[in-house]
Amino acid sequence: MSCRRCVVLVPAPYQGHITPMLQLGGILQSRGFSIVVAHTEYNAPDPLNHSSFAFLPLPDEVAECDKAFSFTNVVNLLDTININCKLPFKDYLVQLMENVELHSRAHYSVIDLRSENCLPLPECQMEEPVPDFYPFKFRDMPVPLTNEISDKSCAIIWNTLDELEHHHLSIIMKDFHVPIFSIGPFHKMAPMSKTSLIEEDNNCIEWLDKQAPNSVLYVSLGSITSINEKELIETAWGLIGSEQPFLWVIRDNSVNGADFNPQLPDGFEEIIGERGCIVKWAPQKKVLGHSAVGGFWTHCGWNSTLESISEGVPMICRPDFGDQLINAKYVTDIWNVGLEMGSPVDRENVEKILMVGVEAKNMRKKAADMKHKVQNSVKEEGASFQCLNKLTEFISMLSS
Ligand code: UDP
Repeated sequence: MSCRRCVVLVPAPYQGHITPMLQLGGILQSRGFSIVVAHTEYNAPDPLNHSSFAFLPLPDEVAECDKAFSFTNVVNLLDTININCKLPFKDYLVQLMENVELHSRAHYSVIDLRSENCLPLPECQMEEPVPDFYPFKFRDMPVPLTNEISDKSCAIIWNTLDELEHHHLSIIMKDFHVPIFSIGPFHKMAPMSKTSLIEEDNNCIEWLDKQAPNSVLYVSLGSITSINEKELIETAWGLIGSEQPFLWVIRDNSVNGADFNPQLPDGFEEIIGERGCIVKWAPQKKVLGHSAVGGFWTHCGWNSTLESISEGVPMICRPDFGDQLINAKYVTDIWNVGLEMGSPVDRENVEKILMVGVEAKNMRKKAADMKHKVQNSVKEEGASFQCLNKLTEFISMLSS
């Protein structure tokens, strides 16, 4: 271990958490910090893709039955991990500090880095508006992490940019009484790196190369959200009805969470031949940055939302749980760069593809403005870049 300051990153074991953590590692490493990624054995990132980071696998002893995704399983899994990994992680930190004392005079500090998009969730009527958070209702709020953040953290790092959420970020800053650093979007601030836990199918890029500009609808519900067979069929009918080219990600476990060979409507094979492409996992950032992609049908995971905004791609929102609900509200009601899909998904909704019509044109213009804001923010004089300078200084000044 070098005597450079070391930042230990501890991602939750899901794609949507591992990706931004690894990106944050890249950002901080470019500022001179050495990076350790402490991770569970379950859903472990591949150290070969990040040879300049140190990796610390923590024995998690997660039972096989807790690995299939469901809300209860996530809660059980995180509980198990918190219990089983606590001691080995603590031992590692003690060892790390001792080594530092022995081999150098450098000060080491571990700060609790969080990139969650989270807000308090008081116990009251779900349909009531949240004070100071127009147009949000309590039902839109994700799971609370407030106490954890304010009790245990000396700073909060947000994977967002000030221009997107200035008002709410300033409220949060007042509430938490710790410095906050909005240095996102991480993927635009970080050197490119391979963060996918699943192999990306790059053939779809060749397919996109053959499509007209802004013509393709990209459909993906992230790494966790699953749908039932009815919704799968409705989606397929919607794509047929849209008469637009489409790129559709159907993960192995994305229909009812089980391994599944999707039974799509009769005739759908032909439609795919004419104007469709289905993959199990796409190189999403490349896809969204491709000139052929004109819209993104998304579950509004925070990474997907930021990636779409960064490329100026309007969205059709189909949120499922947690922060996806509030992200979708931002997309549709505040930034006006998307439409809500509505629930249950029906053919008519799906057919309202945003690539045609006046509404689509306006949305595309707004989305292009947002892309511009992102580009400005990550420039040297931009807000995220400036904030990263402050964060670098902040971590450098922490003493052990
Ligand atoms: N992703 C990808 N290929 C896919 C689908 C998703 O690379 O086919 C990536 C996407 O770029 C994003 C992450 O997986 O970085 C999903 O994170 P998000 O926060 O959007 O949703 P989650 O999976 O956590 O629900």
